[in-house]
Amino acid sequence: MGVITHPNIRDGWFHETNSQWPGQAMSLQVQRILHHEKSLFQDVLVFESTTFGNVLVLDGVIQCTERDEFSYQEMIAHLPIASHPNPERVLVIGGGDGGVLREVVKHDSVKEAILCDIDEAVPRVSQQYLPKMAEGLNHPKSKVIIGDGFAFLKDPKNKASFDVIITDSSDPVGPAEVLFQQPYFALLKEALKPGGHISTQAECVWIHLNLIGELRRSTKELFPVADYAFTTIPTYPSGQIGFVVCSLDANRNVREPLRQVPDCRYYNSEVHKASFIVPEFARKVIEEG
Ligand code: SAM
Repeated sequence: MGVITHPNIRDGWFHETNSQWPGQAMSLQVQRILHHEKSLFQDVLVFESTTFGNVLVLDGVIQCTERDEFSYQEMIAHLPIASHPNPERVLVIGGGDGGVLREVVKHDSVKEAILCDIDEAVPRVSQQYLPKMAEGLNHPKSKVIIGDGFAFLKDPKNKASFDVIITDSSDPVGPAEVLFQQPYFALLKEALKPGGHISTQAECVWIHLNLIGELRRSTKELFPVADYAFTTIPTYPSGQIGFVVCSLDANRNVREPLRQVPDCRYYNSEVHKASFIVPEFARKVIEEG
């Protein structure tokens, strides 16, 4: 077999150049390329880095690294679940690496966790190269479906079925573009049980502030509670990424955790509350429009 190459890897470094964040690029030093394929939906690359462990890249964009993935997976999962009084049935759209499922099943109240990712290649390569994330895919409470998240939610049998829905999507280009638009949020609302919660990947205040403002506005039209929280993570653009967290119950405070979550490395109850406090330049756009 020949040496594997990739257009984003030059002189032993991966460069995350992308028109979504012009003029800047995260670079990681490559130990070796482990896997490269063109799946039905995207370019799939896994490489071993010198300092961040194994790295999953889709269409040239870093999705997760073994060293810092917990800060994202814990926060996108525990913010909506720990603030819900009795979360039993949870849906994850995207998230094919399994890291979010691993966090969801930590909650004793959760009886069933369903994941729907469009691309079978992502769980397949994650099982092989990201075993600490993929363990979530194999948990007895988990069920994995391969298909488009938008189509899954449109299916009448999934209406009013879930206590919490987490959208762990890639960025809003390619197959994930529909997951950032209002028709998708309307489907999420219909798929929730009364009082249900959602959290959705909602980008970075340093790069996509206007998009975050739009996300908050379009979710606020549908949900009585719609808030923005964030985590810090070195390998996402500018080191910060956020989540829109919403509730169907107007009296629910999603900033307030109702119980502790075991075995976390980033999340705790104080971090939960603090993650909704955003710097002033961002607060103005997100809250005042
Ligand atoms: N945490 C990551 C981030 O913010 O970059 C996202 C990780 S996860 C691997 C993203 C997943 O979303 C991918 O596996 C991709 O296949 C999936 N995805 C993209 N569009 C989708 C859609 N329309 N329906 C379901 N899954 C989708």
